[in-house]
Amino acid sequence: MEKERKIKCHCKKAVLEEKVTDFDSFKAKALVCPSCKFTTLTQSQAKEYIKLKNLHEAVDKESKVIKIGNSMGIILSEKLKNFGVKLGKKVKISAINSNAIKIEF
Ligand SMILES: [Zn+2]
Repeated sequence: MEKERKIKCHCKKAVLEEKVTDFDSFKAKALVCPSCKFTTLTQSQAKEYIKLKNLHEAVDKESKVIKIGNSMGIILSEKLKNFGVKLGKKVKISAINSNAIKIEF
């Protein structure tokens, strides 16, 4: 756990607030100035940001549905090994909406 600290923005108009922030392809927690929108990361936020960025680089791409026996499969990147995904691991698959599914590992 990181200590709660009040960090004043360089614009001197406000204190930075922890907010879920939209980065290009994903959202992560960051410190944001409510006045000038200056954004920065704490050390633990930076670690989480890098982890999320690497995960997005590993999975954010088009993939083709292939035939596996009488079932269908999707090829997953080898890079997912870095996130604990390995052959034989059980994953939870659930529907998000009519054209999206979620895979939890
Ligand atoms: Zn500011």
